[in-house]
Amino acid sequence: MKRSTESLPRLWKALNLVQDYVSTGFSRRHPELVLTQPRRAATERAESAEAHSVQAAQPAAVPLDDTLDIIAAEVASCAKCELCAGRKTAVPGEGSLRPPVMFVGEGPGEEEDRTGRPFVGAAGRYLDKWIPAIGLRREECFIANVVKCRPPHNREPHPEEISACLPYLERQVRVVKPLTICCLGRIAAHTLLQTTASLGALRGKVYEWRGIPLVVTYHPSAVLRESTLRKAVWEDLKLLKTIIPDVRK
Ligand code: URA
Ligand code: SF4
Repeated sequence: MKRSTESLPRLWKALNLVQDYVSTGFSRRHPELVLTQPRRAATERAESAEAHSVQAAQPAAVPLDDTLDIIAAEVASCAKCELCAGRKTAVPGEGSLRPPVMFVGEGPGEEEDRTGRPFVGAAGRYLDKWIPAIGLRREECFIANVVKCRPPHNREPHPEEISACLPYLERQVRVVKPLTICCLGRIAAHTLLQTTASLGALRGKVYEWRGIPLVVTYHPSAVLRESTLRKAVWEDLKLLKTIIPDVRK
């Protein structure tokens, strides 16, 4: 008898959760319910030894009812790293849910810091030409960065800043559920693929991150500086196009 008395509160909680699910689709917050994905190795389809050495980082625990607005609000008041001191506006990212592609850049520049929107400066205007080249519109994609606050003088974000900020990107990916991910540049590629291989060695292959097919290409700013990279980017974009499933919902 004692055992069934003990299990009553648990049964009651389970019934409540079921009822909430049926009536609200879990729109109410359940702090005790945390979804964690099992750790999985990146099972990239690439064949090189380099690609096979890639390991996925441990995903962050995410509440079931996380939303882009909740993440953006947390980012706006975040002080988890030193980049908060120099930001005018945090830049969480923007775009559609369930996008064909989620582009991931490095971090906001001056224009982005001023406007709070990702990729709206020179690099962004260039990216705006890449997206239609694969038959997509910017609004139907999702665009984000590894760090959400502008590093001073556009320096690269430091490893501890990246580690502090990465949970936001992970949560965005969980909420947005992109069909594919495209890393723009070395910082995004190194962060998501947990490697230090050169971009030249990483590009041209399809990886997997949290079960999502991922490709890597050069950062638009790098291509603006070095036009010989354009051919490689075009090949990478064509590869990206081949892995976008037709099931766009
Ligand atoms: N460069 C980036 O990596 N991200 C931006 O949002 C703008 C420039
Ligand atoms: Fe927070 Fe990321 Fe901004 Fe650092 S860069 S203060 S972790 S939002």
